[in-house]
Amino acid sequence: MDIESRLGPVLAVAAANAAAVDTEGVFPAASVAELRRSGLLGLTIPTDEGGLGAGPEVFSEVVSRLAEVCGSTAMIYLMHIAGTMPIAAAPPSAYPNLLSELADGTRLATLAFSEKGSRSHFWAPMSRAEVSADGIRLNAEKSWVTSAGFADVYLVSTQTAEAASPTESDLFVVLGDDPGATVGPRFTGLGLRGNESSPMRFDTLVHDSERVGDVGSGFATMMGVVLPWFNLGNASVTLGLAKSALDAAVRHVSGANLAHLDSRLADLPTIRHRIGKAGILLAAQREYLAATARKIANPADDTLMYVLGARASVNDAALEITDQAMRVCGGAAFSKHLPIERNFRDARAGHVMAPTSDVLYDFYGKAMCGMELF
Ligand SMILES: Cc1cc2nc3c(=O)[nH]c(=O)nc-3n(C[C@H](O)[C@H](O)[C@H](O)COP(=O)(O)OP(=O)(O)OC[C@H]3O[C@@H](n4cnc5c(N)ncnc54)[C@H](O)[C@@H]3O)c2cc1C
Repeated sequence: MDIESRLGPVLAVAAANAAAVDTEGVFPAASVAELRRSGLLGLTIPTDEGGLGAGPEVFSEVVSRLAEVCGSTAMIYLMHIAGTMPIAAAPPSAYPNLLSELADGTRLATLAFSEKGSRSHFWAPMSRAEVSADGIRLNAEKSWVTSAGFADVYLVSTQTAEAASPTESDLFVVLGDDPGATVGPRFTGLGLRGNESSPMRFDTLVHDSERVGDVGSGFATMMGVVLPWFNLGNASVTLGLAKSALDAAVRHVSGANLAHLDSRLADLPTIRHRIGKAGILLAAQREYLAATARKIANPADDTLMYVLGARASVNDAALEITDQAMRVCGGAAFSKHLPIERNFRDARAGHVMAPTSDVLYDFYGKAMCGMELF
């Protein structure tokens, strides 16, 4: 079955539920169930592990298409892929069937990286593993985990037991039914209100065989595997949200009449100017993102620059495009008659997620000046 036929039913279910998911702030269970059935949870997993073997370009397209209909579903999907790729790179021996279960939809994954102590600097966990006779004790308070309580697999970061600095870290697989994995108090977010990002506590015993990669390899995996896929996916989510808002704005201004003037909103040059400017911005971001996906698929010396730059650029552009869409649609957007205000709110999550846009710009500038990023 091709990607398009797998995606179609997911888009239909996600679109039908998106408004309620946002209004009620509930996990999009029906969309995620359809994602599990579709085989798309295995999109980027190698075919010999039961996945579809697709690369970054297809992944970016799928995430954007999902975000056009439901930002929360798209973010949950992105976090699944971001959690899956490190496991695909170094499968932990304790779970020989894990990859095929991630591929066939049995297990939904997510990342549990951010901690209160180091805030958005997710690469520097403050929690520290403790080695005992029984195994390795994880004792980590995570501040935000997408799909908290709904995921089947959490990829949890923590400092290694002997770490001399927070970047000496490990990543462990913790299964969702582990009694030591508990969800903290929920909060009501501005956007992406269905992606169930909540604090979590991991107080549990793990073993070497549940680690992803060698001792102390966490930082390298976060930077080398998670960051490219996450940044690409995050930018793809915001691109999809921006496209949805702009498409809705074009439809609205093309149909909304000024009856006393026998004209439409689209007949106003100011409206067309804003639409045109937003359209050009969107087109440029789409190309930047497509180039980034190609760079990740075929790594080169400048791949990291694309991974840093495209996400910062697309995130900021999405804020601008969704803002322009709100403005040209006036009260129809403000009053929630159009999906634009949901896109506007959802798009604001992009630049908040780590590394935040401010940090991405700083990293990009450091790289331009030949400075170390960390
Ligand atoms: C919808 C959503 C889903 C999420 N899902 C997950 C998840 O699944 N797993 C996970 O681990 N985390 C997740 N996060 C957490 C996310 O990645 C960030 O860690 C979190 O949003 C950061 O919030 P904060 O208040 O701690 O930011 P802060 O670090 O307090 O940032 C506050 C401000 O300081 C700025 N700032 C910070 N450091 C610098 C710097 N060095 N230079 C310049 N400016 C700086 C930031 O840009 C920002 O403007 C999620 C967040 C959101 C919003």
